[in-house]
Amino acid sequence: MNIANWLNDAGRRWPERPALFEGQRQVADYGTFAARVRERAAYLLDEHGIAPGARVALFMRNRCEYLELLYAVWWVGAVVVPINCKLHPVEAGWIVDDAQARLIFTDGGQVFLPVALPQGCRELDGGDRTLRSSLDSTTLANPCPRHCDDLAWLFYTSGTTGRPKGVMLSHGNLTAMSLCYPLDVDPVSPDDAVVYAAPMSHGAGLYNFIHVRRGARHVVPESGGFKADELFELARGLGNVTLFAAPTMVKRMVEQARRQGYGGEGIKTIVYGGAPMYLADLQDAVETFGARLVQIYGQGESPMTISALSRELIADRNRPGWASLAASVGRAHSCVEIRILDPEHRPLPPGQPGEIAVRGATVMQGYWRNEAATRQTLVDGWLLTGDIGVLDHAGYLTLTDRSKDVIISGGSNVYPREVEEVLAQHPDVFEVCVVGEPDVQWGESVVAFVVPRDAVALDASLLNAWFIERMASFKKPKKYVFRTELPKNSYGKILKTDLRLWLEEEANVTAVP
Ligand code: AMP
Repeated sequence: MNIANWLNDAGRRWPERPALFEGQRQVADYGTFAARVRERAAYLLDEHGIAPGARVALFMRNRCEYLELLYAVWWVGAVVVPINCKLHPVEAGWIVDDAQARLIFTDGGQVFLPVALPQGCRELDGGDRTLRSSLDSTTLANPCPRHCDDLAWLFYTSGTTGRPKGVMLSHGNLTAMSLCYPLDVDPVSPDDAVVYAAPMSHGAGLYNFIHVRRGARHVVPESGGFKADELFELARGLGNVTLFAAPTMVKRMVEQARRQGYGGEGIKTIVYGGAPMYLADLQDAVETFGARLVQIYGQGESPMTISALSRELIADRNRPGWASLAASVGRAHSCVEIRILDPEHRPLPPGQPGEIAVRGATVMQGYWRNEAATRQTLVDGWLLTGDIGVLDHAGYLTLTDRSKDVIISGGSNVYPREVEEVLAQHPDVFEVCVVGEPDVQWGESVVAFVVPRDAVALDASLLNAWFIERMASFKKPKKYVFRTELPKNSYGKILKTDLRLWLEEEANVTAVP
């Protein structure tokens, strides 16, 4: 099934229902949305010969035209390659080359003037609706038939380590992911408004499908991205707003809401995930926004769909054992199974940490033109996530860390996440990130990068005193580095690789006599 059938259906059933919004201003109903997509599809086919299976890249900021182009590409049976608009054109060019994309749509159509695009790829202005063909778009009344295994979305991993890899997601993967959403995350109604505050090239964009299926509203903030006060204004104006936000975004929303005395009016649901949410931050968010938070855990290879933690549980702070459940990432989504594996890939019983493996209808088809990486990651039908976690007897999954982030100090495993949790609870700590540093005596030692709240003067002895009251001293950071901010990628994830690199450079400088 072609996922574009959902838009075709919505356009016919509810042509007058509001569909696309720039800020609070409606720019298309479902009839117009579908008609524009047909026109763009005709252009792709007629002017550029975009055939089923061809790749078309989108390197654009969040805007309504993004959705039109996504669906136009699928309408002709081709494959979208959404590229994070904050990447450098050189990085985007690398992705275009790897994906062998025929076209790349950008904002303005001239992003690649100073940088050579790979041969065979043309740049076009994604906002230009005058790009039309003489082909009568009604000849493309329906989307090109596609099989559920056919490729739909080539998703380049965020590349916090090494070169990004192209995750192959099929129409079937996207359908399964979308159907899980109302079952496991949040029911969707036609009155809802999904706001794209995080990049549409990533998870936020993937939430469009179920909202198209239900004929709900799609809203791109006028700023094109995330500004907490703009978001609150939109929520008040539009009502029933749902958004996906990385934990760092939720934290900024909490800070801003407290400054403004805003309590979440107009927001229906904040889906958070993509990186750890520390318990201290979650408590603040629940105090500020009440029962509006739902957590998801996923990765590009099983997009947005491995586990979910329900709104009811997150909000029920008096529930026995709340703290440990709220620190988990919830239970498996309906279309996947989760296992914890030992280093030989044997399943482990509940309570024992190991690598999280996932099997089910959302798991990718493999990595694009990278069989070696596919073989390493898809083993016996299971996706090896590279995350370390533990399942309890009730099926709740708790992440301890990425396997490569575990610190082995004096032969003991230290999971940065648990050290971060303890430090994040300190009232004067705004943000924290823990990494390992090579250590001649211990193999590795624990280093904490700390951003103090409101530029308060914090020192190592204060934090050590806090730490040893709460956690085994062998996990105590050997070093604290105080910063005014931490490096993040454009999805709001803290870049541990940058912090490790900084430590390496620092060590080299101090080693010079
Ligand atoms: P990406 O493929 O770029 O979306 O990154 C996926 C990775 O982000 C996962 O493998 C996890 O390491 C991390 N991640 C995703 N969701 C969560 C979550 N809810 N809590 C903690 N880490 C998460």
